[in-house]
Formats: sequence, C-alpha cells, structure tokens
Amino acid sequence: MAVQRTFSIIKPDATNRNLTGAINAVIEKAGLRIIAQRRIQMSQAQAEEFYGVHKERPFFGELVEFMTSAPVVVQVLEGENGVAAYRDVMGATNPADAADGTIRKLFALSIGENSVHGSDSAENAEIEIAQFFTADQIVG
Ligand code: ATP
Ligand code: MG
Repeated sequence: MAVQRTFSIIKPDATNRNLTGAINAVIEKAGLRIIAQRRIQMSQAQAEEFYGVHKERPFFGELVEFMTSAPVVVQVLEGENGVAAYRDVMGATNPADAADGTIRKLFALSIGENSVHGSDSAENAEIEIAQFFTADQIVG
C-alpha cells in the first residue's frame, strides 16, 4: 500500500444542513488529510460531465438536478490506500445499508441525497481531481 489521493464532494444535502465541518471531522479522524478544498456552485454542464458514466441510468436527471441545487464542497484527500480508505469511511451508497460510524450512516438522507461522493478507483480519482483542481491548488 502507498499514499494515494482521492476526490471527494460534500453534496448539497450536507452543505444545506451545515454539515461540512462535521463531515470533515469524520474524514480527518479516519486518517485522511484534506489537501485541497473549495466550495462551488456546480453548473449543469459540470454535473453532467462529472456523472457522465450514469447518463443512461433512470436517476441521471434527478442526480444532476440535486448536485446543482445548492453549493458543494470539492476536495482532494490523501492517505494510505486513499481511494479504498475513503470508500470505507463513506459507507454504502444507500444509507440503509451503510455500516455504523460511516458518513452516510451518520448523515445521509436517502440513496440519492447521500451526503458525499468518493472516487471508485485511482484512475477515476485522477480524472475527477483534474476536473476541479489545478496542480498548484493541491498542497500535499
Ligand atoms: P458516488 O459516485 O456519488 O460516490 P457511489 O459510487 O456510492 O456514489 P454510484 O452508483 O456511483 O454510487 O451512484 C452515484 C450517485 O448517484 C449516488 O451517490 C447517488 O447520489 C445517486 N444514485 C445512485 N443510485 C441511485 C438511485 N437508485 N436513485 C437515486 N439516486 C441514485
Ligand atoms: Mg460512484
């Protein structure tokens, strides 16, 4: 294992409920370092590009609408085996299936409004980070 970066989004359901700090506390307690972070209003084009892999899914329209409904916090996280480590801390997509202590178990409202995104592979992490950050904005 090695130190690895992953991409995270604190989603609108969480920013709306003022949970940015509470979620960051769980991230940091898990040993992941927040090495870049910015609050943005995602555009429709950005959301469609970001979730392009899901464009044929029935929930795609709803997902894009949700992700653009309020500000989000985009982040780069770094830690030992970072991609898998963050997926563990996030918990299952559906909060009903998420393990105790995970972000989604603690905070998510539903399978759609599930508080956080995390990259699912090192390759996708690199692509997603590059969509929202330039190299000089990441200070590891
Ligand atoms: P993410 O990619 O956001 O980290 P994930 O990898 O756990 O989540 P995916 O299968 O990639 O889950 O789905 C992407 C996002 O689409 C989910 O996080 C959720 O917000 C939304 N989503 C997934 N399944 C559904 C569904 N059945 N109904 C509504 N929204 C859904
Ligand atoms: Mg995913």
